[in-house]
Parts: sequence; structure tokens; C-alpha cells
Amino acid sequence: MSKINVLGQEVFNRIAAGEVVDKPASVVKELVENSVDSGATSIDITVKDGGRYIKVADNGCGIEYSDLKTAFMPHATSKIKDLSDLDAISTLGFRGEALPSIASVAHVSLTSRRKEDETGGRIVIENGKVLEETVVGAPCGTTVIVSDLFANVPARLKFLRSARSEEGEIASLVQRFILANHNVAISLTTEDKEIYRSEGKGLEEAAFAALGENVLKEYDYIHASVPGSEVYGYISKPAFSKHNRSYQTLIVNGRYVVNGDISFWIYNCCSHILMKRQYPAYAIFINVPPDMVDINVHPSKMEVKFIDLGGIKRLLSKAINESLARTSSEPKLIEREIPADEKTFGTDTLRFAADDSIGAGEIALAGETPFTDVRENADETKSSVVMPVRSMFVPTSEREYRAPLKNEQSQTFAEVTREKEKPSQYSLLKDILSDTEKERDSYTDISRHRYCGKLFNTYLLLESHDEVILIDQHAAHERMLYDDLVKAVEAGRNTVQDLLLPYIFDVSYSEAELIDSHLSEIRSIGFTLERLSGNSYSLSSVPLALSDMDLSGFVSDMTELLKRGSFGKSALLKNSLMQSACKAAIKGETDITDDDAKLLIRDICERRIELFCPHGRPIAVRIKKTEIEKWFKRIV
Ligand code: ADP
Ligand code: MG
Repeated sequence: MSKINVLGQEVFNRIAAGEVVDKPASVVKELVENSVDSGATSIDITVKDGGRYIKVADNGCGIEYSDLKTAFMPHATSKIKDLSDLDAISTLGFRGEALPSIASVAHVSLTSRRKEDETGGRIVIENGKVLEETVVGAPCGTTVIVSDLFANVPARLKFLRSARSEEGEIASLVQRFILANHNVAISLTTEDKEIYRSEGKGLEEAAFAALGENVLKEYDYIHASVPGSEVYGYISKPAFSKHNRSYQTLIVNGRYVVNGDISFWIYNCCSHILMKRQYPAYAIFINVPPDMVDINVHPSKMEVKFIDLGGIKRLLSKAINESLARTSSEPKLIEREIPADEKTFGTDTLRFAADDSIGAGEIALAGETPFTDVRENADETKSSVVMPVRSMFVPTSEREYRAPLKNEQSQTFAEVTREKEKPSQYSLLKDILSDTEKERDSYTDISRHRYCGKLFNTYLLLESHDEVILIDQHAAHERMLYDDLVKAVEAGRNTVQDLLLPYIFDVSYSEAELIDSHLSEIRSIGFTLERLSGNSYSLSSVPLALSDMDLSGFVSDMTELLKRGSFGKSALLKNSLMQSACKAAIKGETDITDDDAKLLIRDICERRIELFCPHGRPIAVRIKKTEIEKWFKRIV
């Protein structure tokens, strides 16, 4: 080995820069954070050349002329003095690393003037060397121009992505800054095009600027608090969920952060109404006392740890559940609030959400609960195991949907329901539609309508004196089959169905490791899974209720859940049950008889099914007569 050298400052800074500034977006992040920390009320960001030129101008407190050089020294910060300050950091920066790091990999010019000074100063540094330090006239605040970024770091330069991708990343970063600092006016201009401009007039205005002008239509405002802590922000309505997680912003005490537990928790709070592979978009703010959060976990300060994770989860569940319940009273989509005591498997996440003692990783395992606590009617539910509901409209020999369909020849839906003479129905029917959406009961609504045909062999059409309701036959049937399957699984958790031929499948090495580490859980649900040689597996039995399941879909669901770290009995079963229900449900564009249509409608009301299919699509939609009249200009 060679002799040990103490590295020179320049080399050291360059190495440190690797951690702090690995791409243009991280330069923007550091500079904007400095501007926010300076108390600026206005921050303008200009980006050119895929982020190799970055200008950030603020109107904050400025830097004293004599401090200009110091600001660029490693570990030079005005934000903390000693160890004790570390426990209650209220600024975004505090490590004193950003400016020296940036200056070691770029040409930097910083111009600044404090309000109390008559003149300002400018310092120009290139690759760590001071080129210029002059007194200049300048507006109050600080302007930093970074150019030729990474010009002296060929390795970094090589890894820069296209100008568009780098700018895209900067844009989503700025979007988050706008939300997090909604009292600061922030603008982003790239290549002379203005991407964002907020005016610093509060959260709603910032949401408007950052999430788009439809924010109020597409998102729900949520809020919940306990003394000392609060959770609030915007979460997308089910119909406006996204196909990936990049529309999720979590802001803790004013700082944009990442926290796997929390984002998983939020997803879980609403997954039951989301379609598969759909994710909520959100900008959620969590404010807790500074000593209840550890922001010091990650060098670039994006990750945080909460001291009282359970408490935060409880607040989130409350805020999100309340918003879901509110959505249910919106005029166009017919749905309902899920009663807290509803014990169906399909709503497991909501119930778990109410239980703060369960950590994110444990939710899945807790999915066992529904199997045990929903067995009051063991016999009744069991019968649905034997005839599980596959085909309402295409009865097969051994499986029938339920009570005889053909014998019921009623004319209208109301008559069908009356025939059954169940007290519960009458209580449904006697309700009168109230004009206030809040008091409205969707099932009463549906049951007081007259079935009057179908559209496109897909949507059942119901009419009353002042509106029509459209019901998606596939989605509605799917929801019922799903609920039945859930019951069947709950009642007969150990009943398995051997496959005629084992299903053999291969996975990757890392997937195999994951499967092996969860083998006993997978088996305990009723999937007999054996590892063969290498990364091949044999599946030889499945839970009885899932005997028709799509096996390859099951395998991909299972591996995906395992990879996401969200594997658990409940999650796996939920996906499998959804799949099965979807496969077995009457399809759209299928000509069902009027009687079957009426029965379907009757069941919706009688069973008070959740008016979203298991994938989260709405089952019923209403159109007001007045709306139709407007189309024809009968009214304006
Ligand atoms: P840190 O933000 O961790 O303190 P930096 O290297 O980012 O470290 O900045 C060093 C110091 O320079 C800051 O502590 C602050 O005093 C000063 N500074 C940097 N940018 C600004 C700015 N835009 N306005 C006022 N002061 C600034
Ligand atoms: Mg800083």
C-alpha cells in the first residue's frame, strides 16, 4: 500500500459534492432551500441547457459582504452553532455543504445584498477557486448563477440524461417547493418558457399553480388534527388517481420528504376504491413538534423518521376516511360511506387503518383478522362456498348464482323487491329522497327508480321523475361476486381445491428468495406451493373459492406484492379475489334479460353493495333531468 495522504480541500469538496450534488435537480434543491431559509418571499428559478445553467434569485436576508467567502467553505453554516441545535432544526439546510460542493463542480457567481447594507457583493468561484470578489450594486436578496455544471467531472456529465428529463425532474422538484412553501412566490422558467408561477398566497393558490387549475375538481381537501400535530392537504378523488406514484408529495414540517411507511399507509387507506395499479395523487402536509421527527436520517435529507408513527397514521386514516365519506355524497357518482363496523374483507384496509397499532409492514399479516371475526353466520356463509356465485347469467351445472332466477317474473324493480317482503327492503323503500345530498340514500334512490332498459347492452337504465341512473352491469355483478368470494374465503379458510395438474412457473432468483421467505404464509391461505429445482415452483392447490382463478395472474400479483414489500394474506387474497370476480362477472356488451337486470338491481339495493367495483370503478352514475333539459335548451 502507498503512504497515507491527507486529502486537499479541493479533492475533499469534490468527493463531498458527489453526495450533495449528483444531478442538476439537486443543485436546484440546495439553492432553493437556501433561498427559503433566507426568509425570501419570492424566488425565481431559471434553468437552461438541461440544468447545466441554473439561476436562483431571491429577495431574502442576503449575505454580508465579509461572509461571502465563508459561505463557500465546507461546514460553514449560519443555521446551527452547536450540537444542541441539531435536535430542533427549523431550516431546510444546516450542514454547510451545498455551496462548497456546487462550487467544486461548476462555475458559480453569487451576488447578494442585505437590506441594511447600501452596497452588495459578488463572488465568483470556479471549480473551488475564487476568481472574483467585488463590491457591487445589487437588489436586496441573493442571486446565484451556476453554469458549466459538471464541466470538470466527465463521469457525471456522461450520466446526465436528456435535457428534457433533467428539466422534468427539476420541474417536479419545484412543484413540490411551491406546495411546501405556499406563502412564497415561486417561479420556474426553463429555456425561456414559464413552467410554474405561484404567488405565495396560501395553499389553495399554490395547489392551483402546482397541481393545475382543475385541482379543486380532481382533489379532495383533507384535514385532521390533535393538539400539537395536524395532517392536511389534497388527495386525488378516485376517478383522478394516477398510474404511478410520482404524483405524491409528502411535506413534513414544511420540508418535502420521503417516507415509505407513510406513503404505503396512505395508499392503503384508499386502495379499496382504486383500480389495480392506480395510485392516489396527493400533496399531504404533516406538522408535528420538531422533536417528534428525525430529519437527519439521510445525507440529502429527504428521509425522515417519526417518533410516533402510529399517531401520524391515525391522523391520516381519519383525514382520508372523512374525505372518502364526503366524496360519497357528491351528486354524480352514486356511492356510500362504508360503515365503520362493516366487516367485509373488501374493506379491510379501512378497518386496519383505524387501528394505529399496526405498522405498515404488518397490515398485510393482520389481514388474517377478517377470517376469524366474520363468522357469526358460519353456516349461511358456508353454503356460498359450495355454490360460489360464479355465474349469475350463465349458470353451470354445479354452480348457481343464488335463488332461482327464472321463477321471478316481476315487472318492475319495485315489484321484485316487494315480492321478497323483507323488512329491510321496506325500510329502504320508505325513505324519501331528500334534496340535500348529505341525507341521500343511494339505495333508496335506486330502488325508487323504474328499470326501463339498457344502453349498449352494458348499462342498465333506471328512471324516476327527475333523473336517470345508469348502472354498469359488469361492475355491479363483479362487486357482488367479489363480496361473495370474500365471504366464502372467510368461512372456509382451510378448504382447498387440488388442481388437476400442478401449475409450474419460473421466477427470477430474487423473486424466488422473496417467495421462499413467505412460503408458510402463502401456504396457510390454501395455496400449496413447492419449490422445484432452481427457480421453478409448482402450485398444486388453491383456496376453494378461487378454484377458477387465473393462475398466471396470481403469480404476477404475488411477486409484485412481494417486491413492493406489501405482501400479506389480505393483499394477495384481495388481488386474487378481484381477479376471479372480474373473470366470472357478466361482461359488458352482453345481452342479459330484463328479469336478470332487475334482479341485479334488486340485489344491489338489498345487499347494499359498495357502489364501486373492486377495482375502484364506479358502479352507478346519475344524470339529472334538468341536466338533460339543458342539453336540449329547454332550460338554461
Ligand atoms: P447550509 O444551507 O447547510 O447552511 P450552504 O452551503 O447551503 O449551507 O450555505 C452556507 C451559508 O450561506 C448558509 O448557512 C447561509 O448563511 C448562506 N446562504 C446561502 N445561500 C443563501 C441565500 N440565498 N440567502 C442568504 N444566505 C445564504
Ligand atoms: Mg443550504
